[in-house]
Parts: sequence; C-alpha cells; structure tokens
Amino acid sequence: MEYEAVIGLEVHAEMLTQSKIFCGCSAKFGAPPNEHTCPLCLGLPGVLPVLNRRVVEFAIKAGLATECAIAPVSRWARKNYFYPDLPKGYQISQYELPICVGGRIDIEVDGEAKVIRLTRIHMEEDTGKNIHDQHGDASLVDYNRSGVPLLEIVSEPDLRSPAEAGAYLRKLRTILQYLEVCDGNMEEGSFRCDANVSMRLRGAATLGTKAEVKNMNSFRSVERALEYEISRQTDLIRNGERVSQETRLWDADREMTRSMRSKESAHDYRYFPEPDLLPLAVPEAWIAEIRATLPELPDARRERFMREYGLPPYDAEVLTARKDVADYFEAAVRAHPNAKAISNWVMGDVLRVIRERKLDEALVIREWPVPPAHLAGLVRLIDDATISGKMAKSVFEQMLATGAAPQQIVADQGLSQVTDSGAIEDAIAAVLAANGAKVAEYRAGKDKLFGFFVGQVMKATQGKANPQKVNDLLKQRLAG
Ligand SMILES: [Zn+2]
Repeated sequence: MEYEAVIGLEVHAEMLTQSKIFCGCSAKFGAPPNEHTCPLCLGLPGVLPVLNRRVVEFAIKAGLATECAIAPVSRWARKNYFYPDLPKGYQISQYELPICVGGRIDIEVDGEAKVIRLTRIHMEEDTGKNIHDQHGDASLVDYNRSGVPLLEIVSEPDLRSPAEAGAYLRKLRTILQYLEVCDGNMEEGSFRCDANVSMRLRGAATLGTKAEVKNMNSFRSVERALEYEISRQTDLIRNGERVSQETRLWDADREMTRSMRSKESAHDYRYFPEPDLLPLAVPEAWIAEIRATLPELPDARRERFMREYGLPPYDAEVLTARKDVADYFEAAVRAHPNAKAISNWVMGDVLRVIRERKLDEALVIREWPVPPAHLAGLVRLIDDATISGKMAKSVFEQMLATGAAPQQIVADQGLSQVTDSGAIEDAIAAVLAANGAKVAEYRAGKDKLFGFFVGQVMKATQGKANPQKVNDLLKQRLAG
C-alpha cells in the first residue's frame, strides 16, 4: 500500500526591531550574556509590559504580504509553563484571536506550482536561552533573547514532501527578508522551524498520528529530518506498530530524530487572556498605511525581470531570491543595459564569491566585493571588444582583490585586446610564412589545422588578439 506524508510547518521568525516586544532593551543578537536585560524581561515582580508598536506593524506587513486577513481586534494570551529560560513562568503570546488569519504561500517544485495555505500568523515574545556543556556541569541562562519579538507563522498541513517543505521555507524567508521584518539567519536562530509530520494512505481523508520534529537549523537539515521521519513512520506502520504523538529532536550528527517528550496539547498550557495588556485594536487606516509601504515582493519582481529584461525564468528566480542581489543586478543594468550578460556574471562569479566568503548570511550583503558600476563596466569592456571574455575573468579576479575599476585595471596592465586589423594581419602573415608545409596541407583539405593557426596567432599576440577578428582574417588569408 502506498503512503503519503502530511506535513505542516511552524516557523518562528525573530523580528528586526531595535528593541524588545514589551521593554526598551536592545533586541540585537550577539551581546555578552545578560547585557540586554531589565526587570521586565527578567520577569521580576511588579513590572508591566508596554507593547512595541513596530512589532505590530511588522506582523501586519507579514500578514498583508501573504494575503492574510488582518484582525481588527486581536488578543494577547498567557501560555503557562515552567522552564529556566522563561523567568516569568509564562510566555505572552496570542492564542484564540491572532492578528493574522488565513493567507497563502505560493511554491513551485519541479516546475509544478502549488498553494500552501497559512492557518495564522501571531506575535509573541521569545524566551531566553539555556546554555549547557560549556561550563563544566553547570547550565547557565542568557536572558538577552528574553522578550525579543517573534512572529509565529503556522501553515496548514498542505505539504506532501521534504522538497515542498524546503520550497515553502525558502519562499517564506525570502518574503520576510524583502519586507525587512526578519534577517532569516537560521544559524543564529532568527528563523526557526518545527515540523509536524504524519503518514496516511495516499488519498485518505483522515490524518494519522503526528510527531513534531524540532532542532533543525538549516534548510538542508529540515529536508533531511523530514526524509528520516517519513521513513521511520512508514516502517512503523508497515510493521503494524503505532506512531506515538511526541516531540522528537533532529540529531544532525547522527542524521536521525529521537524522542524528546510526549507532545503536550494546548490545554496543558492553561492559556488565558493576558490581564496586563489591552486587546489590540488595529484601525483600518493604519492597515492601509502599512499596505502602501509594502515593497515589490519576490514573485512580482521575478515576473517583472522576465518581462522587462527578457531573462529566462531560471535567471529571474535566482536573481530575485534575495532582495539585495536583485537590487545589485538592477543597479548594474542601469549602468550598462546588457541584462543577460550581467545576469550571467551575477549568477556565476558574483554569487560564487559571496558564497565562498559567506557574505550571504545577513539581510543585506555588506562588503560587496565588486560594486554594480564596476561589474557593468566590465561587461561594457567585453561588449565593445576592448577585452575578450577570457581576459575578463582575470580582470574580475583583480577587481575582487584590489577593488579597482575594470577600466583602470585594463589601462594599467595594457590588457586591451588587439582589434587593430593591421597588427593581427602582420601576426598572421608571420605565422603562415613560418608554417608553409601546414598551409599547403590545409589548402589540400586538412581543415582541422585551422585551430592550429588560430593558436599560433594568439600566441604571437600574447593572447591579446580579438579571437573573432583572428578567425575572420585567417579564413580570408588561407582561402587566398
Ligand atoms: Zn528588558
């Protein structure tokens, strides 16, 4: 019998606000432990939360960009549980009345388009962080993250494969990055994902028992963990055993999931309306104001790149996967309108360098090795035949190393290719004179020798002759 996976994802995205959700402490990542704390985010008695307006604005932005309905009134809720990284003993979240309801993310896997429905998006505060294994037997707690604003984005169980889950997460992250709501850094934990997985007979209407998988910190590990979990559950079912409802941790080193605890249900948390915060009312006019600030989103931009620059779908997809890369491409095309050539350079050499130097982990790539005007200048030098494509590769390496403009590098090193027919003809004449026997063989029908003559002429000009010119002139001379 054939089984199919039913996967729903819960994403926690840390918002890029300056301050935390209910106090004025910095929300920035990476400070020494417990430096960004105050009585409120340490959960001391007698303090009252004050809502950060920017958090609500970001949540509405995310909701509008994913076609959610924005609730005119939503409510804060207390989620009660004990853990050392949660000093108050409860987390302020949203429960039965979240700010965003419904919505969708469009994905494409193997050329097939699919809509993944969203259940909801709500706001909540992040917890602190327990640190084990770094100080002997002691476990320490860092409260810098306590109160950092989170968006929780919950999908319907519409995903059917690890590849679809990967496509969904990449798309969601791209949208949040375009909105500048979250930097999407999975390694630093600002974009985290939990997966609910169950199996059922293909086409069945009812859902099987699901396991929740946590602790995946890259797209790759999400896909690997789902593959593992699907095969684990399928084996259990085939052997007539039951899947237990539980939370499992992905162990990236051993490439397996293992049971962490039996899965708690919502009623275990004793949710109740947060008495320290008023219900949140969002006026229609504010939603309209935020809607007007939405940037062009990735799907729209991809379509425009195909339409406006005549790019193939693949190019448009790669270039628009990051807003900063798309901005870079467009800046270069404005400086020299050869979109396809610039696209090739960006997708090839520029992205390669960015990956190698790991410059792509922040929202905006800083320290771009080559400003867009320089890349445009390089393509212009090829287009006007000043340098060959091969020379351009070496000029690009020098642009990377020195930050100099391509025109400067070409001028300083006398790299311009020889396009002057006279100089090339002289070189051809010399080569043909020195290889009389081969010329005779060629004229007798040994066509393969043409490449030999081209090579000799290029050698004589130290590789600087324009290859097209060499070809054209050689053909004329050899024919004559
Ligand atoms: Zn604080």
